[in-house]
Amino acid sequence: MKVTEHLRQAKGTLVSFEILPPLKGKTINSIYDHLDPLMEFKPSFINVTYHRAEHIFKKKADSSFEKVEIRKRPGTVGICAAIMNHYKVDAVPHLICGGFTVRETEDALIDLYFLGIDNVLVLRGDAAKNETFFEPEPEGHKYAIDLLKQTVNLNNGIYLEESIRNGFRTDFCIGVAGYPEKHFESPNTSTDMLYLKAKVDAGAEYIVTQMFFDNQKYFDFVKNCRENGIDVPIIPGLKPISSIKQLNVLPRTFHVDIPTELSTEILKCKTDADVELVGTEWLKQQSIELKKAGVPVLHYYTLGRPKIIENVVRAIL
Ligand code: FAD
Repeated sequence: MKVTEHLRQAKGTLVSFEILPPLKGKTINSIYDHLDPLMEFKPSFINVTYHRAEHIFKKKADSSFEKVEIRKRPGTVGICAAIMNHYKVDAVPHLICGGFTVRETEDALIDLYFLGIDNVLVLRGDAAKNETFFEPEPEGHKYAIDLLKQTVNLNNGIYLEESIRNGFRTDFCIGVAGYPEKHFESPNTSTDMLYLKAKVDAGAEYIVTQMFFDNQKYFDFVKNCRENGIDVPIIPGLKPISSIKQLNVLPRTFHVDIPTELSTEILKCKTDADVELVGTEWLKQQSIELKKAGVPVLHYYTLGRPKIIENVVRAIL
């Protein structure tokens, strides 16, 4: 079922989760072990992130280096199919521009549709590990909106191959990303908002936000979106803090602020187990306030921390 249909049928705030494919070498059971404790909360859908290939330089016998492409976390499409089959829950694959040509994208969309997947979250992706700026493939998309338009085209039966007439129409419900604290490459909030509005005007049916630790940033973002004519549901993305290291890693990686009140509490902690308690309580309070404000869904980035999410969701349901 489409995410938008879940929202339409909802009697209150829904819950959804986001997972990463396991590292290559691990089995699908690592996903089930991760999700099993969370399934009692009846998530409306489960997102599966996409991780592009990286290039590494491998030393050869003659001491020269060989550039090798490796994918540490393959399997997004397969995991989505497995989740739907195993749990009978809708899976939402993330699809990115990075690393894909437009033809590969079309084939990936067809595969997803054949598997009975009704939703996609379309994203640009970040720069590859060894690049400073995002570089599209020579025949790939530069921005998420271009990937979105290709998906909308397929929903209208328009294929890259012009000779395909009367091809079947996919019927994907398409989500996009939004940034309460602005996308880090954007010159300012207004410009970022213009591009977000363009994605919605081009057919995005809902927005999932980057994580934030201060609810006011989400409320201001929603208000700003509404004032700019963006009227689709805006799903808050929520992540628990569970280690002292994250005080620096999260701002550096995701370009988000940690509120002083939270960082002060974390800095008082002696161990990561103490941080986990602080992080759990913070996320619980964030969730309670957001639920009270009537957000459509609480979308949790579970990323290896299902126990915290379990404790939080149990406390708020
Ligand atoms: P875009 O919407 O293309 O925006 C990128 C930048 O370009 C922004 O600064 C925007 O303002 C600007 N821009 C947009 N359109 C134009 C235009 N036409 N002209 C000029 N500038 C423009 N990454 C992954 O690799 N895999 C994942 O699974 C993944 N999941 C994510 C899930 C969520 C909910 C979020 C919030 C992010 C996720 N990301 C993921 C990270 C995401 O790929 C990065 O944040 C990326 O840098 C931007 O993606 P986007 O889709 O927002 O890009």
